[in-house]
Amino acid sequence: MTILEGRIDLVQPDRAIWNERLDPDLSPDRVRDAETIVGIINHTTGYGVGLRRLDQRHGEDARTIDGAYARRMASILTYKATFMIGRTGLLFQFAPLKYRTHHTGGGKQKRLAAYRADVCDDIPEHEQWWHLRYPYPPGVLDLPVWAPLPNGKRSPNTRSVGIDWLAPRPGESYTVEQYATGARLIAFLCDGLNIPADPLHVNDHSAVHPIDRSRNGKPWDFDSRFDWPGLWRRIRHEIKGWQEMIDKQGPWGPE
Ligand SMILES: [Zn+2]
Repeated sequence: MTILEGRIDLVQPDRAIWNERLDPDLSPDRVRDAETIVGIINHTTGYGVGLRRLDQRHGEDARTIDGAYARRMASILTYKATFMIGRTGLLFQFAPLKYRTHHTGGGKQKRLAAYRADVCDDIPEHEQWWHLRYPYPPGVLDLPVWAPLPNGKRSPNTRSVGIDWLAPRPGESYTVEQYATGARLIAFLCDGLNIPADPLHVNDHSAVHPIDRSRNGKPWDFDSRFDWPGLWRRIRHEIKGWQEMIDKQGPWGPE
């Protein structure tokens, strides 16, 4: 069994739900191999009607809200990543990594091609935040998840693992527990899939698709409430931990 099959070891049965309904997306034409995956794209679930209703119904019972939203995501929502991280830090996995899931649009590539340092005058003001974050590489389409596949097409969904983060309530922020789980998951994926742990390979939907994911001059998937510097500190710490474990036990743990 490889990291691509089934639940990854990190996901314990009591802390995870699995998409038992078997999503119609999990068809053979969506199978990919480990070498295809070169990045991790993080998303907010957004604070839509469904989540607001769950918050109103369950109040402070964050664990129930996490589970209910994950179940809703597994069974109703078409666009979902492989993982969801609840506010309590619960981790949910919807599909084995070997399947591509729908979480990041691949359209508007002609316009995205204008997102290059040398032609940034063409970029509308409300999307220029991108260049402050990425003075390098030269362009959006140079991010590894946009690298052409053997068939010549570019597909961030095929090239990446998606992680949905349950959105905070208005006026609140992502939780410490979410960052702890996220850092551990990202470190695990980087290690198991040979993804370099850096902002070119591990980023968010706004970074990968600033046209779709900016509004009023700012990114919103994630918005400024997401603490990227803090998450990076945690990821580096986790990677040190994983490295020690690998040195001791080998990459797949004790026999
Ligand atoms: Zn997104």
